[in-house]
Amino acid sequence: MLFFPFMEEGHMLPLVDMAKLFAAHGARITILTTPVNASIIRPTIDDCVQLHIISFPSLEFGLPEGCENRKFTIPVDLHINFFKAVASLRHPFDSVLGDLRPDCVVTDMFLPWTYYVAAARGIPRLVFHGSNNFSLCIMDAYERCRPLVGEDESFVLPSLPHRIELLKTQAMDIHKLAGTSMEFMLEIFKEMNEVEPKSYGTVMNSFYELEPEYVDHHREAMGRRVWNVGPVSLCNQDVTYKSARGGEQPTLASECLKWLDKKPRGSVVYICFGSKGLFSVSQLKEMALGLEASNHSFIWVVRNGDNNWFPEGYDKRIKGRGMVIRGWAPQLLILNHIAVGGFVTHCGWNSSLEGICAGLSMVTWPLYAEQFYNEKLLVEVLKIGVGVGSKVYDLNPEARPILEASIIELAVRNLMGEGEEADERRRRAKILGENARRAIEKGGSSYNEIEKLMQELINQRKHV
Ligand code: UDP
Repeated sequence: MLFFPFMEEGHMLPLVDMAKLFAAHGARITILTTPVNASIIRPTIDDCVQLHIISFPSLEFGLPEGCENRKFTIPVDLHINFFKAVASLRHPFDSVLGDLRPDCVVTDMFLPWTYYVAAARGIPRLVFHGSNNFSLCIMDAYERCRPLVGEDESFVLPSLPHRIELLKTQAMDIHKLAGTSMEFMLEIFKEMNEVEPKSYGTVMNSFYELEPEYVDHHREAMGRRVWNVGPVSLCNQDVTYKSARGGEQPTLASECLKWLDKKPRGSVVYICFGSKGLFSVSQLKEMALGLEASNHSFIWVVRNGDNNWFPEGYDKRIKGRGMVIRGWAPQLLILNHIAVGGFVTHCGWNSSLEGICAGLSMVTWPLYAEQFYNEKLLVEVLKIGVGVGSKVYDLNPEARPILEASIIELAVRNLMGEGEEADERRRRAKILGENARRAIEKGGSSYNEIEKLMQELINQRKHV
C-alpha cells in the first residue's frame, strides 16, 4: 500500500500512524513524502515502513525554500502557491505508482488529483479524511438544508440521529474556509467532492463504538464505503520521549515528564490549540489570567511567537504551578501522563481523539473548520466536554470575540472540579478511553476493519 499524506501536521501525523497500523497487520507499506516532511516522519517509524522521498518545488512556486509543511506558517496569501506546488507532484506521484505498483493508494482528501492518476493505472484510491463520521454527516446535512436556513440565528440539521442545532456563525462555510484564496480553493473543494464518491472508499481515524449511529448514517444514508480503523495515535503506545511522534525535542519532553511526575494524579490541566491555533494578544492575556485564577496546575502551549504580552510578573506568580511551552509540545506524552486530569482543546479531530484515548474530559474551544462540529460530538453526544462558549468561526484570531478570564477560569474549574457532573464526565471519558484501546486490539472493531479491508484488496488483486 502506498500512503501519501498532505503536508500539514493535522493531516500528516495521523496518516503516518495509520500506515504504521496497517504495517502492524502485515501490509507492505511505503509513505510518499518530501525531504523536510521525511525528517519529521523518520524518527517516528521503524523498518516496517519504507519512506519514498520526492523533492518539493518551493522556489518554482514562489515559496520560501524548505517550506514543505504548512505548520511552518506560510503567509495566507501563499496558500494558493502551496496547493499549486503540491498539485505539481502529479508526475512524480505517477512515476512512483509505475515503479511500486501498489495494490492501493491511501491519499489525503486535499490531494483529489491522486484519484485520476491512480485510476489511469487501475489502482484503487482510498481517501483519508482527517475528521470523523459525525462531522461528515453534519457537513452533508448542512449542504442539504442550506437553502432552507431562515433568518434565525440558529437552525436544526435535518435527518440526523440526534437533534443537532447549530448557530449560523459556527457553520463550516466553504467561503470562510477559503479566505482570500477563494476561487482556487473552491476549485479544490469541487474536485474533492467529485472524486470522493468515485474513489474506492474512505478510511477514517475513528472507531465504531465511539459514534455508532454516525458510522451507520455515513454508510447507509450517505451511501459511502467507510472503514473506521482508529484511533491511529494508539499505534504510538510504546514510544519513548526519544521517538514520540511529531519530532519533539527529547529535552523538552523529558522536562515535561519530570515536571508532571511531581504532580498528584489527575491534578494538571493541559491546554493546547493544535498546530495552528493562534489568538489575539488580548485573548491570550485573558487566557493567562483565567488559568492563573483557576488555581489548578497547568501546561499551556502557546503558539504565538512574540512573548511580550504576558501579564506583568506572570512567570513568577505561576512558578511551580504552571508550565508554558512556547512551540511544539510532546502532546501524546503529556495527555497520557497520570498527573493530567483534563484537556482544554480547540477540538481539532486528532487532539479530540487523543484526549478520548487518554480517557480525559475536556473544555472545548473551537476556532474554525469542522472544530465546532467536533465540539458538538464531545459535549452533546459523548457528554465528556464543557463548552467554553466559542461561537464564531473565524480563521482570523483578531476577528473572534474575546472570551474573558472569568469564563475561562469557570470552565477549567468545572472541568477539574468535584461534583456529580464533573465526575460523570470523567467516568464517561474513562470508559471511552478503554473502548478506544479495545477497538485496535486483536478482535476489536478497528482491528477487524483493517483485516477486512486488506483481505478485500488482496481478493481484488487476484481478480486483476
Ligand atoms: N500536536 C503536538 N504538539 C503540539 C501541537 C499539536 O504534538 O504542540 C499534535 C497533536 O498531538 C495532534 C496534531 O498535532 O496530533 C494536531 O492535529 P489536530 O487535528 O488536533 O489540530 P490541527 O493542528 O489540525 O488544527
